[in-house]
Amino acid sequence: MTDTALHGTTSDEGVRVNREVRLMRHPDGALEVGDLEVVPAEMPVMAPGHVLIRNLLLSVDAATRLRLDPVSPPGYLPALKPGETLAGMVVGEVVESDVEGFAPGDLVHHDLGYRDYALVDPGNQALGVAGSLAKLDREIGPPELQVGLLGMTGLTAWAGLFEVASLKPDDVVWISAAAGAVGSVAAQVAKAHGCRVIGSAGSPEKVAYLMEALGLDAAFNWRDGLDAPLAEFAPDGIDVYFDSVGGEHLRAALDHLRPYGRVALCGAIAGYDGQPPSAPENLFAATTKDLNLRGFLAGTFADRLPEARAHLADLWSSGRLTLDLARYDGLEAAPQAVVDMLSGRTTGKCVVALG
Ligand code: NAP
Repeated sequence: MTDTALHGTTSDEGVRVNREVRLMRHPDGALEVGDLEVVPAEMPVMAPGHVLIRNLLLSVDAATRLRLDPVSPPGYLPALKPGETLAGMVVGEVVESDVEGFAPGDLVHHDLGYRDYALVDPGNQALGVAGSLAKLDREIGPPELQVGLLGMTGLTAWAGLFEVASLKPDDVVWISAAAGAVGSVAAQVAKAHGCRVIGSAGSPEKVAYLMEALGLDAAFNWRDGLDAPLAEFAPDGIDVYFDSVGGEHLRAALDHLRPYGRVALCGAIAGYDGQPPSAPENLFAATTKDLNLRGFLAGTFADRLPEARAHLADLWSSGRLTLDLARYDGLEAAPQAVVDMLSGRTTGKCVVALG
């Protein structure tokens, strides 16, 4: 995390100023800070049927990487061209509104992040249904909670476990990228549901975090291998695999799943840097073991957000769920935040606090 000073979104003269994070060039492999740029941008002018929002807390999500190559994966949102502004979920405060139900001072959630100010048309979402402008209840919790745990991060974990993998209390569950935003919520929710939970992450510090801070039953560093720890921690096999990684992780899961096991195909981050995710060589295990592998997008479950939020808020208020933040300050730190999150240098939910 950086110590970058918060630059704020008003100039010394008290005039509102706006900046945006744009794609400068398509990454050549892993994203580098110089592939993105923070540039001054026109202050949006209030328009009929719109809401002018000062962004406060940006959600830094791994899926952003999927739009930075010249072509995005089939079925996903279109790729960005160099010069275009990134989109991302963000919590903000209404400055002006010409939309019923939204008033200055309201806390809202929307998808035009990566800029200080956003002019939002509620009928036109940058990220599809998942990005719909919504008013947040300040009573539920601070923006830090609402951008991750009670927002799309929480919904992704909840939907993947319950809607996609049909989680049952006696399941043995493996969660990959378990120290990350979605993974850490999924791991804790599965634990609170009564499951035996094994988490994997990419450093000894993260493994210690999974055991000590999240209280998982077992954890291992995927960089040291997958099969030996899975055989050790789940000698009779696993019932559910929550996949955020794809590639070798998915291959190992197929080998270690019990008959009738379920896989929530949430993401495939091992393939986001230019190596398109491909099917594992042992995919036929899905047939021979009668497995259920299902991909999903959290936005498909947007109508379940109130239910997911209520479940997660209940776990939060009863102390059975924590959400650690990797917090960066100021829009100028956003490129570094995205790079750090993708390369595994952050733990918990990565956010950028704006002015
Ligand atoms: P995150 O987990 O906070 O950060 C990404 C993590 O991925 C890193 O911390 C790193 O953890 C791990 N990682 C990176 N490269 C890896 C590699 N080659 N092999 C193994 N692990 C690697 O990010 P997030 O936003 O919560 O996203 C997590 C996953 O969920 C992503 O696959 C994302 O696309 C997916 N997702 C899907 C949906 C959906 O609707 N389906 C919604 C949100 C997110 P380690 O240091 O532990 O390796």
